[in-house]
Amino acid sequence: MKKIIIAVDGFSSCGKSTMAKDLAREIGYAYIDSGAMYRAVTLYCMQNRFFEGDVINIAQLEASINKIQITFIPNAETNNSETYLNGVNVEREIRTMEVANKVSLVSAIPIVRHALVANQQAMGAQKGIVMDGRDIGTAVFPTAELKIFVTASAQVRAERRVAELVAKGDPVSFEAVLENVKSRDHMDTTRTESPLRKADDALELDNSNLTIAEQKAWLLAQYHRVISNLPS
Ligand code: C5P
Repeated sequence: MKKIIIAVDGFSSCGKSTMAKDLAREIGYAYIDSGAMYRAVTLYCMQNRFFEGDVINIAQLEASINKIQITFIPNAETNNSETYLNGVNVEREIRTMEVANKVSLVSAIPIVRHALVANQQAMGAQKGIVMDGRDIGTAVFPTAELKIFVTASAQVRAERRVAELVAKGDPVSFEAVLENVKSRDHMDTTRTESPLRKADDALELDNSNLTIAEQKAWLLAQYHRVISNLPS
């Protein structure tokens, strides 16, 4: 069967990854969480002390960008793909609030975006991929056959994120998460380089009141619609 590229963009913590991952599994496509790549670069900057408060030393980052290798390797037990930074599993570390509070500063830096976008485009060269992020339908794969733009209210997104972090044993306050969600929304939509925006040809999905099963069914239906309309 013909393979396509599926781009899932949207605001932070709106459940993009869950729906993108589920769809990829269902249709046998690769799934790439592009946010994990920006988080891994952020962790690298923190580990190597490139930050002074909220200011990042761009010269140091520039000198190191080619030394940052990010890979995804499936966990044999959970079957979920996990993020590795220079060969070390960082899946847990990249999801902390410390990284979440710095990632939008790092993702606004042009050299970071250029390096990661080139990497992401190479991953999708053979198609058969579902990628989620902020600029997948606009910058990474502007000709993707199926583009989805997911939204939900900041309140709902913060509630979901708190539940996720608490389940992982990382207790956080709702106020701190809501503040992070709002500040990332602001930084991600107002940055100069590839700001978060809905591609003109993307389908918008507000999932504030949808269950995971309902989102999954909707996305699968969109996939089948696009596939059945492809020229043979
Ligand atoms: O999706 P997630 O919340 O893990 O993304 C973390 C951050 O990475 C976002 O807030 C955004 O700053 C950045 N990002 C991006 N472009 C992408 C994916 C994520 O700028 N394609």
